[in-house]
Formats: sequence, C-alpha cells, structure tokens
Amino acid sequence: MTDADRRLDALHAEIRAHHGSGCGFEVCETATQMVPGEGPAGAPVMIVGEAPGAREDAQGRPFVGNAGKLLDGLLAEAGLVRDEVYITNVVKARPPGNRDPKAPEVAHHWPWLEAQLELIKPQLIVPLGRHALARFAPEAKIGETHGRVLEAEGRRLFPLYHPAAALHNPKLRATLVQDARALGAALTGA
Ligand code: URA
Repeated sequence: MTDADRRLDALHAEIRAHHGSGCGFEVCETATQMVPGEGPAGAPVMIVGEAPGAREDAQGRPFVGNAGKLLDGLLAEAGLVRDEVYITNVVKARPPGNRDPKAPEVAHHWPWLEAQLELIKPQLIVPLGRHALARFAPEAKIGETHGRVLEAEGRRLFPLYHPAAALHNPKLRATLVQDARALGAALTGA
C-alpha cells in the first residue's frame, strides 16, 4: 500500500465518521451512512456521479445498483476494470427520496472531492451526467461535450451521459458505449 493509498483510506474514514456528527444538513442526517468512494490512489480515471442512490446508501459503496452494472460494462469498453479506477459522487450521502442535492449540500461536501482529486491526481475526471458536469464546468452542456476531452478550470474532463439515463434508452446506451471507447482511446493516446 502506498502512502497516497493510506492517506486516501484516512480520508474515507474521515468522511464515514461525519455521519451522525450533527452537522444539520439533511443529506448527512437522513442517509443510512456516508458513501465516500472507492478505488486506488494511483487511478488514471476518476468517475464522479451526483449522489448515492438507495443501493449505495445500503451498502456504503458507489454505483452498486443497475446504473453501476452498466458503468462496469462501459469501463470494460474503455479497456478498464472497476478496481483500477476511482469512483465517487459529488455528494457523499443519499438525498432523501433521491431528490437532487441542494447547492449548500454540494458546497458542504465539495472539500472532500477536492481532497480526493488532490490525492489521486487523475489523468481524466469523468463527470457522469449533466448535474455532475455542471459542478466542474457550469457553462458546459452534456449534449455538446460528451465523449471527448474538455478542459475546464485547469482540469481535464471527459464528460459522459449518466448510465442511469441509458438504462431504458437504447440510443443513449449506444452513444455511451461509443463514448466509453473514446475514453479508452484518450487514455492510451490513440
Ligand atoms: N447514481 C449516482 O450518481 N451515483 C451513484 O453512486 C449511484 C447512482
């Protein structure tokens, strides 16, 4: 285990310990547990969703439901396996009823994402869907920027549609597969 992995473990422990801290934010107070994220500190890619759903809330791990299964398939299309990428969310606790996170909740959790980025220093950040993309590049439209590298505020992004949106939309699923292959090519410089 590298020093960066140890520091990442400590950060995960800090995020988990936040649960029950009485911070007053609804997401932190109503979630079953925090979902910090998972993956190695040396990951070339950091996948960022918006917030955990019911399955993630129950298991304490990101993307373990149906959208997660689709994500695993997309990673395979990119020539990646789940264990070698880092997966997290902008907000680390499930919003009640899966509502959209509120701006103050995003601001409350954002320093953890910054700390994760600082430790992992990924080659590419992959925001999933328009909400996650908006946190990194407020002006960017997912329909215009998906499937290619986008530089924003000194970061290299590779936006993808959210896999949950593609679960019942075969056209979007085909686009996601194509974009995932382009992600693989961007990583190998092909
Ligand atoms: N959707 C997300 O945005 N994140 C998860 O962890 C699961 C579903």
